[in-house]
Amino acid sequence: MWDGTLTRARLTIRGAVQGVGFRPGVFRLAKELGLAGWVNNSCEGVFVELEGSHLQVQTFILRIEKEKPPCSFIQSFETSWLDPVGYRDFVIRQSDPSGPKTALVLPDIAICPECAREIFDPNNRRYLYPFTNCTNCGPRFSIIEALPYDRSQTSMHRFTMCDQCRAEYEDPLDRRFHAQPNACPICGPHLELWDLKGQALTRHHNVIVDATRGIEHGLIVAVKGLGGFHLMVDARNDEAIVRLRKLKCREEKPFAVMCPSLEAVLTECIVSELEQRLLCSAEAPIVLLRRNPSAANGRSNIGPSIAPRNPYLGVMLPYTPLHHLLLRQLRFPVVATSGNLADEPICTDEHEALDLLGGIADLFLVHNRPIVRHVDDSVVQVAAGREMVLRRARGYAPLPVALKNSSEPTLAVGGHIKNTVALSVGRQVFISQHIGDLESAPALTAFHRVIKDFEGLYEAPPARIAADLHPDYLSTKYAQQRGLTVVNVQHHYAHVLSCMAENELDAPILGVSWDGTGYGLDGTIWGGEFLKINNGGFERVAHFRSFPLPGGNAAVREPRRSAVGLLYEILGDRLFSMRSELLPLQAFTEPELLTIRAMLKQRVNCPRTSSVGRLFDAVAAIVGLRQRTGFEGQAAMELEFMLDPVEAENAYGVQLNSTPGFPAEADWHSMVEGILADVKSGCPGGQISTRFHNALVEAIILVAQHEEEERVVLSGGCFQNRFLLERAVRRLREEDIRPYWHQRIPPNDGGISLGQIVAAARTKA
Ligand code: ZN
Ligand code: ZN
Ligand code: FE
Repeated sequence: MWDGTLTRARLTIRGAVQGVGFRPGVFRLAKELGLAGWVNNSCEGVFVELEGSHLQVQTFILRIEKEKPPCSFIQSFETSWLDPVGYRDFVIRQSDPSGPKTALVLPDIAICPECAREIFDPNNRRYLYPFTNCTNCGPRFSIIEALPYDRSQTSMHRFTMCDQCRAEYEDPLDRRFHAQPNACPICGPHLELWDLKGQALTRHHNVIVDATRGIEHGLIVAVKGLGGFHLMVDARNDEAIVRLRKLKCREEKPFAVMCPSLEAVLTECIVSELEQRLLCSAEAPIVLLRRNPSAANGRSNIGPSIAPRNPYLGVMLPYTPLHHLLLRQLRFPVVATSGNLADEPICTDEHEALDLLGGIADLFLVHNRPIVRHVDDSVVQVAAGREMVLRRARGYAPLPVALKNSSEPTLAVGGHIKNTVALSVGRQVFISQHIGDLESAPALTAFHRVIKDFEGLYEAPPARIAADLHPDYLSTKYAQQRGLTVVNVQHHYAHVLSCMAENELDAPILGVSWDGTGYGLDGTIWGGEFLKINNGGFERVAHFRSFPLPGGNAAVREPRRSAVGLLYEILGDRLFSMRSELLPLQAFTEPELLTIRAMLKQRVNCPRTSSVGRLFDAVAAIVGLRQRTGFEGQAAMELEFMLDPVEAENAYGVQLNSTPGFPAEADWHSMVEGILADVKSGCPGGQISTRFHNALVEAIILVAQHEEEERVVLSGGCFQNRFLLERAVRRLREEDIRPYWHQRIPPNDGGISLGQIVAAARTKA
């Protein structure tokens, strides 16, 4: 399917791919597929650039892994889609010895096929051994204490290799030559199954057998894995899942599942080739997959409480030998959710786990290989035909993103929710693993620990710090205490810069930055922003019409508040006489409404916002979908899930009002009137949702045309919404405008730290 548009992709392939005929293989496949570009080696890995149609490039990505030379192994495979530059032919370039010399810490790598074979081979000395690894696979980032990467500087230093392991380690022809975490049942770490008091019930392989029995009987088992603990229960047992939800204080946020095999995934979900590649990749992330509707008719092994009212399921395959052994024994999917309380950081130590998870888990499956740093499971989806990382952690962190120019060492402390930090060294930006919401004391401790860890690991004391503009964010306060120059970066500007950086784009460009909340330059809450990025900074060229949020932050968990604020903005006090026809008003008691009415009238505790996230909330409440939410973004997600694509071309009206000297205003007035009329006439919610999504996209087209911009960057948490992203991409292309969006860096606040680094580099010191 050649749609006439040329695209370029850069592949960075790390692992045992050098010197094993990998480059000739790349060359042959590229030639066969008619792709132009080049391939070369550097100390960092093999770099490939391909130019051709999207389908040609996609075919290359899917085939190179299957057709790679037998001795090669891919530990990390990163794709960046970029603008074409006009290559004419495909060539093998000279190896590049000048590459960056910064030592790379590799991410943790899923078990390789050979090690997986060994643990199920009764004649192998590593039969059933859960800590089997080799040079191609196994733990890295989660066990490294310092660089260079050597056993003595990992948490494996306490285990002395036996003679056989030592011989493998020293033999250049062995698969375990210099495999730092090399171990076997004689000399390596081992398993124990603990009760709530930390008493060992069983050891070694009996642990797997007994833990399996426990899960089969509906128990919750805390499992110490690679980068932290999982809480596991039988995914078929809804009673057990509901109990886990209660104990973990997690009412509705979806749980991820680990399936025993790809076949098991295929019975539950619809899986594209690209999604299959991701599931089976060395990164082995959680992949958001669309559930197979026919699996619901009795064939599904997934309890309804795993992801209530959600057409998607977060699925991963076993990625360590321990997980393989456990899932082989279980033979059914398990919930595998982070071992933590609510949204705190994942627990990594077995003694800490007894304390923290003692009120949740019934059994503890632990081992004596220490986890040096927490690393959550990564979350990835395929959107607009490409991979999009939504949570960047295991398998991806801490691989760097390279900037065009080098700058002085800068630390970026990120935002407030979904926090990550970043450290720039030369041209490289190392982005931390997902840390989480900086709301709890444990999260703040993890935040401090990761910063100290990064500065130590890369021996790069920062010369300055980039932080959010919000004066009350704990990350901003931390930055101010460091005694270094602080560069405060507007939140939505950081979103756009992070997306520009990974797409290698220069100013000028139009950035569309939509999310739930961010501190604006004028002190109001931004979140529906159109920013024109120029050489030194940005101009807010347009934004959505703002509305009051009665109760401020309380609105995040109560879409009904956004709805009342939004309706008050156009209806005024008249709104309060319409209780009988408006569901968000009925969701309040009469006394509550009196208070809210007074707040709105007197403008007390009613900050104004242009947030698209809150607009989603308001619409969800008006159509009666949801008045309160259990987690951030839930209402927006459910509005996306109820879409009726049959209505695809229909949109509510949005007007762009411009006043010279001010940012233009995308006014949703007629849209809200349309929604009210549709609700009144009993129009199905799916159609209202579609027209609403389409209206938002048309606002992008209006602003882009008003600004006469030919390139548009889409960033912010709202663009995790697949329909919104794909529709925006398609409509922009129809109008001959080039869209760019996120790939390796999350569109949500996990990408803020990278954007802050770029902003600091653009600020002249
Ligand atoms: Zn291996
Ligand atoms: Zn050994
Ligand atoms: Fe944001």
